[in-house]
Amino acid sequence: MIGIIGGTGIYEIVEMGKDVETKIIETPYGESPEISIFKLHGKDIAFMPRHAKGHANPPHMINYRANIYAMKKIGVERIIATNAVGSLDLSVKPGDFLIPHDFIDFTKTREFTFYDTKTVHIDITEPYCHDLRNYLIESGEVVPNGVYVCTEGPRFETAAEIAMFKQLGGNVVGMTGIPEAILARELEICYASICMVSNYAASISPTKLTIDEVFEVVEGQKENLVKLISEAITKTPDKRECPCSYALLGAEIDEV
Ligand SMILES: [Zn+2]
Repeated sequence: MIGIIGGTGIYEIVEMGKDVETKIIETPYGESPEISIFKLHGKDIAFMPRHAKGHANPPHMINYRANIYAMKKIGVERIIATNAVGSLDLSVKPGDFLIPHDFIDFTKTREFTFYDTKTVHIDITEPYCHDLRNYLIESGEVVPNGVYVCTEGPRFETAAEIAMFKQLGGNVVGMTGIPEAILARELEICYASICMVSNYAASISPTKLTIDEVFEVVEGQKENLVKLISEAITKTPDKRECPCSYALLGAEIDEV
């Protein structure tokens, strides 16, 4: 099963599907948002609205562990996530889609692991699934790599922070991609993200950021985003051949 975790602008993909049913999953971390399960291009798809319906949870309050655990529980093996981002680079423009190949984590207060009671050091050298990224890159016009910087939010960044992120090698900045990518790897789920550039980050853009500006760009790119995901689903083979499926092998430290 392929999971889609969507922020703003992609609920429409469910309308393309057949035999839609909805489920709320109980997890040890709490209830999941309502997940829509359906068939698309002959494949089983599960769509989860990251913020729950109507943007109920701001980025730092999302129950990431419940979300990813619920996906695992219903049989999701791969997750395509969408994340709204600001661009740190004038050549990556509002409206562009970027498929990140790495991230830098500046979150502060989030529950970021499933392994609090045993020692598991997961390898995350390549945090986004190589194969799943390629299906996305082959499915439409995208910026094929970049470094995603995740901040805690909900405020936007200062000019000094943005200057620092740029120096560190960041290309886009957002608030929702971490710990999702980490938690997925911890449960051996493939994970790739489509970063939708909604604006230039603070001080990169000559004008002040408004939330209206963000929604305007997202609205304009909705259709292309849904098309990109739908195309990537057709390219995704049933069997996985990437190392994500055995990520826990050798990661756990036995008690002495
Ligand atoms: Zn993978």
